Amino acid sequence: MFKKILIANRGEIAVRIIRACNEMGILTVAVYSEIDKDALHTQMADEAICIGPAKSKDSYLNMQNILSATVLTGAEAIHPGFGFLSENSKFAQMCEECNIKYIGPDSENIDNMGNKLKAREIMINAGVPVVPGSGGEIIDEAQALLEAEKIGYPVMIKASAGGGGRGIRVVSTVEDLAAAYNTAKAEAKTSFGDDTMYMEKFIEEPRHIEFQILADEHGNVIHLGERDCSIQRRNQKVIEEAPGVVMTKELREQMGEVAVKAAKSINYKNAGTIEFLLDKHGKYYFMEMNTRIQVEHGITEMVTGVDLVKAQIKIASGQKLSYKQEDIKIQGHAIECRINAENPNKNFMPCPGEIKSLHIPGGYGIRIDSAAYQGYKIPPTYDSMIAKLIVHGKDRDEALCKMRSALGEFIIEGIDTNIDFQFKIVNNEKFIKGNFDTSFISKEFKNI
Ligand code: ADP
Ligand code: ADP
Ligand code: MG
Repeated sequence: MFKKILIANRGEIAVRIIRACNEMGILTVAVYSEIDKDALHTQMADEAICIGPAKSKDSYLNMQNILSATVLTGAEAIHPGFGFLSENSKFAQMCEECNIKYIGPDSENIDNMGNKLKAREIMINAGVPVVPGSGGEIIDEAQALLEAEKIGYPVMIKASAGGGGRGIRVVSTVEDLAAAYNTAKAEAKTSFGDDTMYMEKFIEEPRHIEFQILADEHGNVIHLGERDCSIQRRNQKVIEEAPGVVMTKELREQMGEVAVKAAKSINYKNAGTIEFLLDKHGKYYFMEMNTRIQVEHGITEMVTGVDLVKAQIKIASGQKLSYKQEDIKIQGHAIECRINAENPNKNFMPCPGEIKSLHIPGGYGIRIDSAAYQGYKIPPTYDSMIAKLIVHGKDRDEALCKMRSALGEFIIEGIDTNIDFQFKIVNNEKFIKGNFDTSFISKEFKNI
């Protein structure tokens, strides 16, 4: 097992990884930007090294500085968390070259799945059903028009390098196509430095169902069931739950098998997530694979009892999976609400600033993953997610009651948050009945 791990991330996920290391008796090195000098991850790790100015590209995306910090502190492995360098194949490769263990899949896995177009092609060849769409890249407006005609409206224009719900546009009519294509392409260029675009059939009113995978370095692959992440705003997840309300045991087995097959087909290693769209008729389609730990991994931990971050570290150290597929049992129901520093009444504008007062809910089945503390100044530079409120109950009803109670108890003063907005969602009749799809927020909350 590793003696020391460097965490190439910040915020709650860095804290989550430090906690796993502490429990495993592994020393930790935090890296931080100048503005994160007082951040919780900086304070909690055994050692902390400044890697540059606030801007991500100068610090958390600065591969040279992160690798230097690793060598300097004698850390043997790097955990990338999510976001930042977590899906950067060049970074994984540089780690490999420097003899530093990257806690995640190899650079080839990342390369193949990080590019959504390539991933689609690989999945088609592996016999995995994918969303119908363009065969390859769409290079200009004229080709976009032809492809949309072939696929049939509505269509979705997507950036091959996309992530975090950006670089995506839905187009319902031919008149809107050219403008949507151009704005999505421009957004992809600025967000990802890569404006390769493709097109998919827009699946109407689908559910986002994703499967958690664990694969060791000895060819063993299992899945840990699904998460329903259909509650989204602008293609970004807001609430996630496990198991999915519409899932049956049969469908779980079937989709789980497909997810394992997909991972095996690329000789995948470590933790990963296969995202599917499930349409109104029960047909499912591969959408993308995320080659990293996911924001919402905690709900899977609550219902399976498997610590996914520890599993990632054990796998990276060469250990075999200690679970077989039949050992994985889904128990009870877990729900996560992402708590963001943002103002839902001002178009969800991020609201950085000082947390003047903080009261965190607690109790049986309530879990908070956060890097926030009273007096902490949330910098304007990074993601606005400040906490994940996760509840676990014996069934969905109990989990919902716990979530309502916990959201009601949660107090964050000094900044705006989406806590009240989350409260409205979990009290919505349709949500309570499990009657929702990815268009839920846009339909139910038209005014905000
Ligand atoms: P998840 O399924 O884990 O919720 P998200 O797509 O929400 O995945 O992304 C997780 C985190 O990574 C978010 O904080 C998001 O802003 C960030 N992220 C995702 N993709 C990218 C990217 N290509 N570049 C920068 N940040 C990204
Ligand atoms: P990202 O890398 O940004 O997470 P995804 O490909 O996972 O991009 O898409 C993000 C979200 O957009 C999905 O969770 C889903 O709600 C929606 N979406 C993506 N593709 C389609 C599609 N073909 N039809 C309908 N909705 C889609
Ligand atoms: Mg996705």
